[in-house]
Amino acid sequence: MEMEIKKQKSISAAAKIIVQSRYTIALIGAGLSVESGIPTFRGAGGLWTKLGEPPNNGYENFLADPKAWWEQNLNSEVDPERTQFREAIEKAKPNPGHLALVNLEKLNILKHQITQNIDNLHHIAGSKNVTEIHGNRIKLRCVNCDMRWHRDEFDQIRLDWKQNLPPKCNTCLGIVKPDTVMFGEPIPFSTLNTCVNETRLADCILVIGTSATVYPAAGFPREVSSSGGKIIEINPEETPISEAATESIKGPTEDSLPKLVAEIKGIIGDDPTS
Ligand SMILES: [Zn+2]
Repeated sequence: MEMEIKKQKSISAAAKIIVQSRYTIALIGAGLSVESGIPTFRGAGGLWTKLGEPPNNGYENFLADPKAWWEQNLNSEVDPERTQFREAIEKAKPNPGHLALVNLEKLNILKHQITQNIDNLHHIAGSKNVTEIHGNRIKLRCVNCDMRWHRDEFDQIRLDWKQNLPPKCNTCLGIVKPDTVMFGEPIPFSTLNTCVNETRLADCILVIGTSATVYPAAGFPREVSSSGGKIIEINPEETPISEAATESIKGPTEDSLPKLVAEIKGIIGDDPTS
């Protein structure tokens, strides 16, 4: 009970800060997707816990022999655990946390979302201004010019690409890889640039379901804070960012985020049921 009162106080305080802020952005991590049934990579039942950590030179290996990499990737028999993981992502649906973020964007309060999740759930939920810092599992990207395609769209552009591996960019003939960022691969320049610009504009950042320990994402809340902005953390657990946060809302994000949106609507006078 005491916990609930404390949580409600944090939600009220956070709502006030957000309403008073000029430019609120969000940094989102795996915690939000876990609540949609997507297993984490690390931790109990995680893909990498079962299979072992992937080699930290994945990108190097890809570039060394993209044809072999694609041949293996397209053969789902090779790795049943990985196929199972992929199927779990395919079945996942946005949860009330994702939908709350869509609502905040529609209210013109949330200006941008930087997500570390590759599962495409923000787009399925209906969010518009999203930067996927680790890429998107349903997209492909040219390593040379950063051009992206939906996998289906690429199928149409390059009907025969599965016979002519590795796939090539139809603009610059660069090698095409999955959009998801591999180990050892730099974040695409244009992606990082958007994140840096959005962070500079922000005077408030919501840190949702991430412990914000992996750079470059970990730097964004610190950047907002060091220029005088506010950090609002929404996470079931205490994290390294909690201490720097102006408000920390403890609990599942799919519960806290809709409550936060209702509170904000209460302040700005919108009908919370609409
Ligand atoms: Zn290209």
